[in-house]
Amino acid sequence: MNEKQDLLSLYPEEIRQILTENGVAGYRAGQIFAWLYRGVRDFDQMTDLPLPLREKLKDLFYVEAFRDEACIASRLDETRKYLFTLSDGEYVESVLLSYKHGYSVCLSTQAGCRMGCRFCASSGLGFARHLRPSEILLQIDAITRERQREDPSFRVSHVVLMGIGEPLDNYDNVIRFLKLVNRKEGFGIGYRNISLSTCGLVPRIRDLEREGLPVTLSVSLHAPNNALRDSMMPVNRRYPLEELIPACREFTRKTGRRISFEYALIHNVNDTPRCAEELIGLLGGWMNHINLIPVNETGNNGYKAGSRGDLAAFCALLERGGLNATIRRTLGADISAACGQLRRTKSAGKG
Ligand code: SAH
Repeated sequence: MNEKQDLLSLYPEEIRQILTENGVAGYRAGQIFAWLYRGVRDFDQMTDLPLPLREKLKDLFYVEAFRDEACIASRLDETRKYLFTLSDGEYVESVLLSYKHGYSVCLSTQAGCRMGCRFCASSGLGFARHLRPSEILLQIDAITRERQREDPSFRVSHVVLMGIGEPLDNYDNVIRFLKLVNRKEGFGIGYRNISLSTCGLVPRIRDLEREGLPVTLSVSLHAPNNALRDSMMPVNRRYPLEELIPACREFTRKTGRRISFEYALIHNVNDTPRCAEELIGLLGGWMNHINLIPVNETGNNGYKAGSRGDLAAFCALLERGGLNATIRRTLGADISAACGQLRRTKSAGKG
């Protein structure tokens, strides 16, 4: 017998095909898909399916499940942070952010990360595995269900892939997730409401460009020259700025979509006037946007955030140089909403 299929990772057409191959009428796929997105995961509760079919479904498919481990609400704003346990005991984190335009969720794409950025809380713990499409979707599902207990009309409108993991290092599963989350019969989240953040895997940026999905690309830049970026982000040794920046420009030219560059300011490391000048050289003259954030002081890398004044001064230098720069509002500061921090606490407790 074939292995059971992960139902939530399949497109409705694929469910339909498996059903017809097994002698079941194809239209049942639509009913099953609808149940899944109404939150019903137990085949026995899919009451418009005949009993023998429900039994058959149990042989063909399994439905991935999460255990809700923890949910922490910020007292400063509406940010909530979630920790989930996957079926094999791994942990992932997600964050719910509230904006004027709706609710946005920040999702993890891997349990751990293998990119090794020196400033990042996810790096210290190493890499466990890629998440399957279902496991990325279930983060939205679990948050929606938790919130709907208080507000039945709650709905996630935006998705950012900026949690734990490097989305483009889990390329196929992430692309499948994007296409699934966009499905009208599912969550129906528009591509333009989805951002994907990468540390700069150049060949995958080029692949993403060819997918033709109008998602927003964020690139974690953090340094304006190779020497400094090498010291902060090992990925830069593999794909240095002279490859990354042309790939970004090409992405913008081909897709017409403006890239957002993330830049975490570390005091006396990457926030000097010289760095601002270099950034203007790198990003000036083409369509992009730069998001400045004070570095989150995690781990023992010695990185310190500057003052609000330092941040504003750096931003002013960039603007004077013609760049489109903004200082990103930090949400959920009291619940360490920045990625990796909960999983780290939890895994430390495990060992
Ligand atoms: N791997 C992807 C997405 C996950 S990290 C990426 O690298 O883009 C999400 C964002 O948080 C990235 O921009 C990352 O560089 C940033 N980040 C990680 N640790 C940080 C810290 N300590 N302070 C500020 N930003 C941090």
